[in-house]
Amino acid sequence: MKLFALGPVPMYQRTLEIAGKQIPYFRNPEFSEIMLESEKLMKQVLFAPENAKVVFLTASGTAAMEATVMNCFTEQDKVLIIDGGIFGHRFTEICDMHRIPYDAIHLDFEEVLTEKHLDMYDGKMYTALLVNIHETSTGQLYDVRLLSEFCKRNQMYFIVDAISSFLADPYFMEDWGIDATILSTQKGLAIAPGMSVVTISNRLYEEKVLTTPSKTLYLDFRSHIDNQKRGQTPFTPAVNIAYQLNDMLRSLQEESIEHRLTHMDMIVKDFRCRIADLPIRIPNTPLSNAATPLLFKDRNATIVYETLKEKYDTVLTPCGGNLRDIMVRVGHIGNHYLDENIDLVDNLRKVLNCAK
Ligand SMILES: *Cc1c(COP(=O)(O)O)cnc(C)c1O
Repeated sequence: MKLFALGPVPMYQRTLEIAGKQIPYFRNPEFSEIMLESEKLMKQVLFAPENAKVVFLTASGTAAMEATVMNCFTEQDKVLIIDGGIFGHRFTEICDMHRIPYDAIHLDFEEVLTEKHLDMYDGKMYTALLVNIHETSTGQLYDVRLLSEFCKRNQMYFIVDAISSFLADPYFMEDWGIDATILSTQKGLAIAPGMSVVTISNRLYEEKVLTTPSKTLYLDFRSHIDNQKRGQTPFTPAVNIAYQLNDMLRSLQEESIEHRLTHMDMIVKDFRCRIADLPIRIPNTPLSNAATPLLFKDRNATIVYETLKEKYDTVLTPCGGNLRDIMVRVGHIGNHYLDENIDLVDNLRKVLNCAK
C-alpha cells in the first residue's frame, strides 16, 4: 500500500524493527536513561531553551491539547484561539468543556490569517494565544512570526500545536518565544500513534503550571515533570513507542533537522510541479510542507480518493465536512521518496481522466 495519509504515516525500517520487539521492563535505570536522553534530544530538535520541561503523555494529540489547557489555564484567564478549521475549533471545544473564557478568530476556508485579524485583539489582556500552526484540515500554515510578535507585544503566552508541522516546516521554539509546543508521535515523527509530547517554557511552568490547581490525575503536568526528573512517567507509558521515539530523535540528530527539512522540501516542490497541468487547484493560502491539499472543481474528490485506493492501492487523506467532495490531501510526512511522486501523479492523472 502507498500511504499518503497524514498520520499514521509510512514508518522507517528502523522503527518497524523496534515495533516488532519484546517490550522490556521499564521501572529501571535503563529505561530512565532512554527517557532522559529523549528529553534532551526533544529540546534540541525543537530549538527549545535548556530549562524547558518535557512531558511525555501516553495519549493522542488531542489529549495533549486538552492537558495543556487544563494544566495552564483557569476560569480567571482569557485566551485567544485561531479557529480556522477542525483543529482550531477543537481548542474552542476544549475551552468550553473546561470553562476557560476565550475569543476565537474564525477563518473561512482559504481566508489567510493576517495582521488585520489580530489588530482588534491588541491590548485586550488575553492570557494566551492558542494556535495549530498548521491547520491540518485546510492545509493553511499560519505566519508564526506574526503570531509571535502579537504575543510578545501583548505579553501573552504562546501555545502552539505543531503536531502536523513539526519536521515538515522549520520550527524554533526559543527564537519565536513559544511557551508550549504540542506534538504527537504519528505525524512528522513517523512513529506509531499513542504518545504525545508537550514541551513547556520555564516561565509557563513556573507562572502557570505550578500555580494552577490540578484538575486531572492522569494528565497532570506537575507529576509528569516531577517524575521525568528521574526519567520516569507517573503511569505505564507506551514503552515500545518510547523506544521508537528515542531512536527517531537519535536518528534526527545524526541526520540533522536541516537535512530532513530540505529532503521534505524537495519532495513537496517536485510534487506540486508535477500536478501543474492537472485539472485541480491548490488552495491560495500559505501551505505547510506536511501536505498538499488538492481542490477538485467537479466535486469528485471522494470518487478520486476511492478510485486511487481501490485501483492503485494508493491512500490519500480525505477531508470531512464541507470539504468532503471538493478536497483531498496528499500527505508528505513520514518515510517518503522523491520517486514515489512519479507513480502518484501518473495514477492521479489516470483517475482524473475517467472520474469526471
Ligand atoms: C493530528 C492532529 C492532532 C491530533 O489528533 P489526534 O487524533 O488526537 O492524535 C492535533 N492537532 C493537529 C493540528 C493535528 O494535525
